[in-house]
Amino acid sequence: MTPFGSDAGAGSRDTYGGYRARLVDQLRAQGIRDLAVLQAFSVTPRHLFVPEAVRHRAYEDAALPIGNGQTISQPFTQARYLETLGLKGDEKVLEVGTGSGYQTALLAALAGPVFTIERVPALAKSAQAALRSAGLNVSMLVGDGTLGWSAYAPYDAILVAAGGPEIPPPLVEQLSSRGRMIIPLGARGAQKLTVVRRTAGGVQTTPIGDARFVPLVGEHGFDG
Ligand code: SAM
Repeated sequence: MTPFGSDAGAGSRDTYGGYRARLVDQLRAQGIRDLAVLQAFSVTPRHLFVPEAVRHRAYEDAALPIGNGQTISQPFTQARYLETLGLKGDEKVLEVGTGSGYQTALLAALAGPVFTIERVPALAKSAQAALRSAGLNVSMLVGDGTLGWSAYAPYDAILVAAGGPEIPPPLVEQLSSRGRMIIPLGARGAQKLTVVRRTAGGVQTTPIGDARFVPLVGEHGFDG
């Protein structure tokens, strides 16, 4: 995996390497063990994905505002998500809720082709710009991710980055037979992080912990 180099950050020298290393140490201290996940955090320039006003906080293990009432998730939460998906490097992945694009970049470091959907056009635009400045070319759709992106299905892994009241049926249909999905399920503001697998008998769901994500808004989510 190639680091984003000494030139990550709109033409300036990457002065953030030490901060990234400290963040990786914190993730390790909190129990993240997957070396590929830790490596993805050590090479992905989070400072490119947060607004200027909070750039000095880019490598805190904290959720930060990204505008339009949305947040870039806490790195530890994202690391847990990614560790749970257990990506090996060649999977086709669908992400619902691009937000800043940071988790999209982490997925690109860990998997094969990544497809991402964001419902808020302004966020999609700035995420696409940040991904480009990080040297990544990711397929992005602006729309309702609860409907999935059938043109590129099936997906080996689906990551939903917003909390919904139910598992959107189109996402189950678009999951490959051996695929796995991770989605926060429950009420607005309080969900269970849930792993979903397709089985011969239907769908198997396994709750793996509490979560607090912004609402998944859409046809198979909450009303806007
Ligand atoms: N992981 C992201 C990051 O690294 O910045 C943060 C994602 S943020 C917690 C959740 C995102 O899901 C928001 O940007 C929100 O607009 C988006 N969202 C909510 N409902 C959606 C839907 N139905 N389809 C696509 N995006 C949706």
